[in-house]
Amino acid sequence: MYHTNYHTHTSFCDGKGTPEDYLKAAESRGLLALGFSSHAPLPYKNDWTMKEQDLPAYREAVETLTRTSEKLDIYLGLEIDYLPPHLTPADERFQPLDFTIGAVHVVEDAARHTFHEIDGHPKDYKACIEFFGGIQPFVEWYYRQVAQMCRETPPTIVAHLDLIKKNNQRNEFFTEEEPWYRNAVASCLDVIAEVGSLLEVNTGGLARKRITTIYPSPWILRLAREREIPLVLSSDAHDPAQVDFAFDEAVALMKEAGYTKVYALLGGEWIERPLE
Ligand SMILES: [Zn+2]
Ligand SMILES: [Zn+2]
Repeated sequence: MYHTNYHTHTSFCDGKGTPEDYLKAAESRGLLALGFSSHAPLPYKNDWTMKEQDLPAYREAVETLTRTSEKLDIYLGLEIDYLPPHLTPADERFQPLDFTIGAVHVVEDAARHTFHEIDGHPKDYKACIEFFGGIQPFVEWYYRQVAQMCRETPPTIVAHLDLIKKNNQRNEFFTEEEPWYRNAVASCLDVIAEVGSLLEVNTGGLARKRITTIYPSPWILRLAREREIPLVLSSDAHDPAQVDFAFDEAVALMKEAGYTKVYALLGGEWIERPLE
């Protein structure tokens, strides 16, 4: 099957390689479309998002490829944090874009003027747990925050829905079987279904060997299927070599969950394609 991927990080943020390097990799892997989704700038110093002043050069680099690429469609996007009042996927200052990927990576401790990263170092994760006074209130806040993003500033694509599991690989803090966890996920999916954002099946954690399965977990895909939430396939590549990483495995899991279709941005429009 011919795939597409709209979730890639170049050296404009925390990835390796230029947009051209990604185009070459995508061509050699036979992709039909390639999107760029650098991390939008955050209101604090960090080593993984783009700098505000690099936005014009990023836009120019991708738009140049859009004009010159003959074999496949190229699209300009951003992975934007929902971190009100600082930024949201609906911010006009980032437009025009072909698509947005909305994510919650950060917890703000406004009283202490600090930010903690959910998918960062385990000590950041522990700081989040401490801030909320326990793992359950932290995780429930996370899913409520993703739901609020979808309700208030719906992105085109919802990023790595269960990112919260990244620092819980050995079930140190919770298990995904716990009813409160399942309820938090299900309520969030209800909102995604209502607003119509696409849910990504993201193989990025596998590529970086941080987790042993896709985002979201296969049981969550089954709940998404029950709600008829449309899917898009993403590798969240941080290296051109990962441009279609583990896509066959992801497609098999989508099928197991009952999906027969996947969404793709082709010719400037989101269309449904058969999952083959
Ligand atoms: Zn992300
Ligand atoms: Zn990403």
